[in-house]
Amino acid sequence: MAIDHHKQNMANTKHIVVIGAGIVGAVTGLELARRGHRVTIIEPGEPGGEHAASYGNGGWLSPSLVVPLSLPGLWRKLPRYLLDPVGPLTIRWCHLPRLAPWLIRFLLAGFSARRVEKTALALHPLVADCHLRHDELAAEAGVSDLIERKGQLQVYRTRADFEAEGMGMTWYLRRLTGCTWTELNAEEIRRREPALDSRYTFGVVLDGYNCVKPGLYVAALVRRALSLGVELKRARALGFRSESDRVTAVVTDDGDVVCDDVVISAGIHSKALAAAAGDRVSLEAERGYHVEISDMDPLPRNRLLLMDGPMANTPSRFGLRITGHVEFSHLNEPADWRHAEVLKKFTVGAYRLTHNPDRVRFWMGARPSTPDYLPVIGRASRLSNVIHAFGHGHIGVASSPNTARAVADIIENRPPPFELAPYSPRRFSLLGRLRPIAAR
Ligand SMILES: Cc1cc2nc3c(=O)[nH]c(=O)nc-3n(C[C@H](O)[C@H](O)[C@H](O)COP(=O)(O)OP(=O)(O)OC[C@H]3O[C@@H](n4cnc5c(N)ncnc54)[C@H](O)[C@@H]3O)c2cc1C
Repeated sequence: MAIDHHKQNMANTKHIVVIGAGIVGAVTGLELARRGHRVTIIEPGEPGGEHAASYGNGGWLSPSLVVPLSLPGLWRKLPRYLLDPVGPLTIRWCHLPRLAPWLIRFLLAGFSARRVEKTALALHPLVADCHLRHDELAAEAGVSDLIERKGQLQVYRTRADFEAEGMGMTWYLRRLTGCTWTELNAEEIRRREPALDSRYTFGVVLDGYNCVKPGLYVAALVRRALSLGVELKRARALGFRSESDRVTAVVTDDGDVVCDDVVISAGIHSKALAAAAGDRVSLEAERGYHVEISDMDPLPRNRLLLMDGPMANTPSRFGLRITGHVEFSHLNEPADWRHAEVLKKFTVGAYRLTHNPDRVRFWMGARPSTPDYLPVIGRASRLSNVIHAFGHGHIGVASSPNTARAVADIIENRPPPFELAPYSPRRFSLLGRLRPIAAR
């Protein structure tokens, strides 16, 4: 019986090309290899390198990541975002005409409580167990030390600020999706984080883990995948060769790669490839910044969110990483390092700490974001053996293991682990939404 099952698996084994070795591509490649498929990852850069969003993010892995950015009432704050060039959310005037269709969809996605409830419930299965899945992956890749298992402390000036967060929706949505947290008063905050400024009088501790160096983590996952026989091709995917409705090879700047199936997981660069496979998706770069201070005294004890920033502080043996800000600009526009300066100044001012100014590094990366805060996961409309796995915005690290499981199930024609309709690549066009389910 066991032999028959093995034979059946071998018969179903495919050669799958995964485009991109960010966190989504790396975890997907590994999942497919574990299931016995032959996998080639196509990636022009160093896996885990600075060019990718997966390098410099905050590494927060938590079931609480179900709250979209666009919430009812956000539109009232739009003028401020347009006027403040270095605020937590900025929109560059000159890019407004190009960004307008995305921004309108973004505001509509958060227009009513009903819509954001639907979004939070759709995100729930992607992130509910994400910390545990990453714990297993890190152990498999031999880098358990990159996962910090302490939860996240969020601090507010007052309890009223906590209640008002996200136009009053944040904690409602977290409760709706089963998240739990512990509340702290001023004294308890001080006990946990003695160096923190006394203006913070209310706090919560949220469940979850943290990846303290996501770039090293991605590199380790790719190394693990290679040890299972995955091939890494250093090239850029340019498009597809196809026969009728199927891709026969991925065209790269270093020749064609013949394959049975293709996964598009090229982060912010996925849009053109998705269009070549038949889907016009709405995807924009939400640029974010980080500051790494490798020499500071004392190092904060907790992964901590300063909610009056807002910004995330992640201490580890590598120093302190400060992440935050959303900047709508053009992908290729030079970074505006004033954002990183704001993150640094705010954090340094929030603790009684000293740092060595020579040991500070700035980084900027592009979150691959859809306007409705949901990734794109599913078969392409024209080329049926292409599977989309991109658009993870603010939660790409957290949601990568469950994305990978869903992608592998699609490829193997198995029922996916959760309902995929909310992630459909066809949701951005009226025509796509009207297509009969059977034709998808
Ligand atoms: C400041 C900041 C903080 C964040 N904090 C968190 C957090 O706390 N938790 C969380 O879960 N998420 C967080 N995120 C979001 C997270 O970083 C992203 O969602 C995630 O990294 C996206 O992963 P990806 O694999 O889709 O894209 P990327 O990491 O960008 O990888 C895409 C890869 O595809 C490759 N590629 C591009 N084009 C091609 C091509 N044509 N052919 C072949 N390869 C190609 C690129 O070289 C790159 O390596 C944060 C992001 C930022 C910017």
